[in-house]
Amino acid sequence: MPNNTWKPGSWRQRPATQLPTYGDAAVLDSTLRELSNLPPLVTSWEIVALKQAIAEAQEGKRFLLQGGDCAETFAECRPEIISNRLKVLLQMSVVLIHGLRKPVIRVGRFAGQYAKPRSSDTDTRDGVTLPSYRGDLINGPEFTPQDREPNPRRMIMGHARSAMTMNFVRALIDGGFADLHHPEYWNLEWVGHSPLAEEYHHMLEGIGDAVRFMETISGSQVNNLDRVDFYTSHEALLLPYEEAMTRTVPRHPGYFNLSTHFPWIGMRTAQVDGAHAEFFRGIANPIGVKISPTVKPDALLHLLDHLDPDNEPGRMTLIHRMGAANVAEALPPLLKAVRDTGRRVLWVADPMHGNTESTSNGYKTRRFDNIRSEIEQSFAIHREAGTHLGGVHLELTGENVTECTGGARELTDSDLARAYHSTVDPRLNYEQSLEIAMLIARQASV
Ligand code: PEP
Ligand code: MN
Repeated sequence: MPNNTWKPGSWRQRPATQLPTYGDAAVLDSTLRELSNLPPLVTSWEIVALKQAIAEAQEGKRFLLQGGDCAETFAECRPEIISNRLKVLLQMSVVLIHGLRKPVIRVGRFAGQYAKPRSSDTDTRDGVTLPSYRGDLINGPEFTPQDREPNPRRMIMGHARSAMTMNFVRALIDGGFADLHHPEYWNLEWVGHSPLAEEYHHMLEGIGDAVRFMETISGSQVNNLDRVDFYTSHEALLLPYEEAMTRTVPRHPGYFNLSTHFPWIGMRTAQVDGAHAEFFRGIANPIGVKISPTVKPDALLHLLDHLDPDNEPGRMTLIHRMGAANVAEALPPLLKAVRDTGRRVLWVADPMHGNTESTSNGYKTRRFDNIRSEIEQSFAIHREAGTHLGGVHLELTGENVTECTGGARELTDSDLARAYHSTVDPRLNYEQSLEIAMLIARQASV
């Protein structure tokens, strides 16, 4: 528990990076006041349930699947985009349950993934310099002074769109969309014949047989197959927004960040003495931290002492994003340090962010083989260290994009121009995502 000097706003006393400078303080203040009176996006009950599930994943009893866009956009808060993304995550989770033989915790990178860290504060084109695009919660992507000016009112719009996304996801799931008796609900119309379809349908037949067998011997429907839990997550980057959503509740002690179930600290804002670590220290949510190859074991232990002094079950998830070329060297010392101190953490692999590269035709991409390699190496390194990899963190979409190369359809650099829609990082498309799920499922038998 944080000491009693912590408050949702105590981060303001610490050096903050990656935050915008707002021009109009009066509009900012009135916006934050308005936001702090709007309903929360999630409840403390759900957050407590997720923390319990993560505690079980830390013991190897569950696997975490976390995925969605690099950056959601307000324009793409659309029903088909939301339901297609949900379909992919549901299909992947079935593949993982079948292969790993354990329950999967489903966490979307959605309903609030609207703020982005950037490597530069400014963007210069043809001699004109404007603020960088920092995600729709902060400013707009068009290269115009109007769009790039940070606008506090975007926080109200982002809250509303997060609520609309949540509402649609919850209604779909409560209505039976996730029912394991009807995996055909998750078919994506545009897919046609996929090289992976046969393996996936074979797996579904196996699951269908098992469900029917269970129902025959028990004489009734197997419970809980018609609904699943879905949680939300985002990088809690824009601290004024996160602060306004952080509140006490009647039935659980402490302060809960009610903007999402599972916020994480990005690689660029994970300094132990910085504003983001100060904010995260005091919230009761389960939290994630992205870990890059530059993080040294001592610094990691120091950060864990700061964020989780009580070594609380379910509290800490460490998301390593090393890159296929670095993981073998960078990961083992961290695993050893954490293991030797008896610290309870959930280790998750993000095989996306260490594998970003630019093509000669000017696209930011990721090669499927590097993503696959980082996952396979991560499983092996954990086995060797006597720790276990308990989850995966992916950037993906249910749309038929061409942003990452490789995979079963062997997309090449020249395919990237065809359907590149991401405003920030390249995402796995539907088939590439399913292929990754099958690859992880196979790790159970390695
Ligand atoms: C991200 O998850 O989109 C991101 C920016 O990751 P990282 O902080 O690991 O670079
Ligand atoms: Mn990203």
